Amino acid sequence: MARRIGSRYTAHQILGRGSAGTVWLGEGPDGPVAIKLLREDLSSDQELVGRFVQERTALLGLEHPHVVSVRDLVVDGNDLALVMDLVRGTDLRTRLDRERRLAPEAAVAIAADVADGLAAAHAAGVVHRDVKPENVLLDMQGPLGPGGSHRALLTDFGVAKLIDTPRRTRASKIIGTPDYLAPEIVEGLPPRAAVDIYALATVLYELLAGFTPFGGGHPGAVLRRHVTETVVPLPGIPDELWQLLVQCLAKAPASRLRASELAARLRELLPLLAGMPPLDVDEPDTDEAEEAAEELSGAAPAAGQPVRRRGAVPLVPGARPSDSNRDTHTSMRVPAPDELAGGARGTARAPRAAGAPRPGSARNRAVTRRRRLTLAVAATLLTAAGVATWLTTTDDTPPPPPDMENSAPAAP
Ligand code: ADP
Repeated sequence: MARRIGSRYTAHQILGRGSAGTVWLGEGPDGPVAIKLLREDLSSDQELVGRFVQERTALLGLEHPHVVSVRDLVVDGNDLALVMDLVRGTDLRTRLDRERRLAPEAAVAIAADVADGLAAAHAAGVVHRDVKPENVLLDMQGPLGPGGSHRALLTDFGVAKLIDTPRRTRASKIIGTPDYLAPEIVEGLPPRAAVDIYALATVLYELLAGFTPFGGGHPGAVLRRHVTETVVPLPGIPDELWQLLVQCLAKAPASRLRASELAARLRELLPLLAGMPPLDVDEPDTDEAEEAAEELSGAAPAAGQPVRRRGAVPLVPGARPSDSNRDTHTSMRVPAPDELAGGARGTARAPRAAGAPRPGSARNRAVTRRRRLTLAVAATLLTAAGVATWLTTTDDTPPPPPDMENSAPAAP
């Protein structure tokens, strides 16, 4: 059933539903559009509406082949709608769900498109803050790019920032997936452009592997992993690509590449990746200890989500990090459960190549019981700390000056 949005637009049919509202296929004076109608509890919040209107120029200002442009902002009675370019295709999450893993060439082509879009946004002083496969749309009507990939466009610019205040987060539990959150956000630092690079590298890893580097299990555990754990190599990944991923997943924001540089480096890799099949990677093993800790702390993983353990950032005085990914950027260093339990440190367990033997673990029952108990306490404490930090970290920080890519400037 058609629905009027303001005086100029008509919404015809639902294209998809997201966390902030419903996206409709609509019609405007200049032809077909996509209309994102914000959820009623959001659009009835006068403060939030005011923020949207205030940031209108920033929302409407971005024009780039790899950014979904916002054409108009409509405030009409209880409706708050963003009128966007219509992308005829699907989102990257849907493609990933269907294919599980993409061939490296296609994955890198998509990531390069998104990096280009981010470069334009960062140059205009806008940080996205919510880069994830759901926010990447694939234009299926345009020509195919490298590896048969469709042109990718980043959507939802600035929306996360406007909606995501601590007050609102607590009140209505708008909490997206923590899988793409940069460690500095977990630690409460203001989100600069480098958070988008971290999130994009996480997306690229996910496109290649079929899972995110630090995801799985309770959100608090995911947040902790962003700060304390290192990413382990994917079997069969070309070294040049792996080095790029590691650099962009560095704990220290300053160690990550800028968006324009990342886009260029990714495109340089495309010829090398041509024709390469998707990586042969199994889901990593479930980690018994972490699973036990989460189980005992009541933080059981969601159904179907494996719990994974990766290498821990060495937190012991004198321990030397072996790559830039291990750098931490603030003095806050949270010991990993292994360390609290006095167990092995930094024992990364790589995702297994398909068919490789599963490593066994012969544990003394008494030791396991003691370790589980210690881990449960540690995980509970860390989870509580992580979530508390996250919930209080979202927006209300005053934006720093717009000094190019590493800043999160105020919109006019
Ligand atoms: P989320 O809030 O989870 O990021 P959105 O609300 O942005 O999701 O979008 C929900 C769905 O609507 C998307 O997955 C996509 O299928 C569709 N969609 C969003 N924006 C557009 C657009 N500009 N053109 C076409 N479809 C879109």
